[in-house]
Amino acid sequence: MINIEDKFIVGVDIGGTWIRVAICTADLKEENIKSKNTRTLKENEYSISNSVCQLLSEIMLENDVEKEKLIGIGLASAGPIDMEKGNVFNNANLGFREIPLKRPIREKFPGIPIYLINDCNGAVLGIHYFEAEEEEKDNIIYITVSTGIGGGVICNGRLMLGKEGNAAEIGHGLVDPKSKFQCNCGAYGCWEVFSSGTGVKSRALDYLKDNTLNSDILLGIANNDKSKITAKEIFQGAREGGELSKKVVDDCVFYMKVGIGLVNNFYDVSSIYFGGAMMKDKEQIIPPLIEQFKIDPLRFTINHPPKIKVTKLGDEVGLRGALALVKYKLENNPIIP
Ligand SMILES: [Zn+2]
Repeated sequence: MINIEDKFIVGVDIGGTWIRVAICTADLKEENIKSKNTRTLKENEYSISNSVCQLLSEIMLENDVEKEKLIGIGLASAGPIDMEKGNVFNNANLGFREIPLKRPIREKFPGIPIYLINDCNGAVLGIHYFEAEEEEKDNIIYITVSTGIGGGVICNGRLMLGKEGNAAEIGHGLVDPKSKFQCNCGAYGCWEVFSSGTGVKSRALDYLKDNTLNSDILLGIANNDKSKITAKEIFQGAREGGELSKKVVDDCVFYMKVGIGLVNNFYDVSSIYFGGAMMKDKEQIIPPLIEQFKIDPLRFTINHPPKIKVTKLGDEVGLRGALALVKYKLENNPIIP
């Protein structure tokens, strides 16, 4: 029997821009989390695993933690992933066709169990452990609205993983099959085509090309430089009453309603937690979503309305998820198959 009290859990969050590594005492008390991060290098397929090992070694040294005290490493990565092999494959943001994670990390930290999960499935575990209330936590969805849209689902106290760990790719749910707008995945009319950061930007550029809506305010904000237009400028444009910006934001919110209506109907959850970079403009997104469940539920959803929340864990949500993953795995908690 190991004495759990002086043991440590490692959590790693791997994204297109940042790699974050944390260690925490096995009780996962928030005040005991120590973390570091670095920009995601893409020099070769081992750049990420090298960065993870480097950051982990630094944190251990700074906090006087020896290898023998580590009882598990959780990796939450942008997907798609192959949970069994421990690789990421075909990820447009990370570069290479296949990125080995588990094997190179195991070589430097042998004998320590390593678990891999995709970032959104990890994030929902983080919310389950660190944030959700007792009465809701066994039926929640996490939705990240960022470059793309991704999801993680806990239903009846079980994390939905799918056969390789890529379940709940909700951003590619079709919300407008006849759409002329193409998604990065190749399909037309995916939810993230309208409501993600990339989608909002692309729609604005399309409308600028069409030249049918007044774009003065948006172009003013961007100093007449179209290359400076991102979701941020478009949401600002809508706040200032710009016609083109308002249309793009209205579409973003409308399809957000359709998307969460679908997801809610599939899983009948107690709460939907939002996160991701687009939540910087949450005042223009969340209130209309809450409103729809109050005044117009039948149009978008037939179930009892869920609560709509924004995670308080912010950028840390993936890292927290990676820590919770290890904790739940070591406890043989039935939440993870
Ligand atoms: Zn798609």
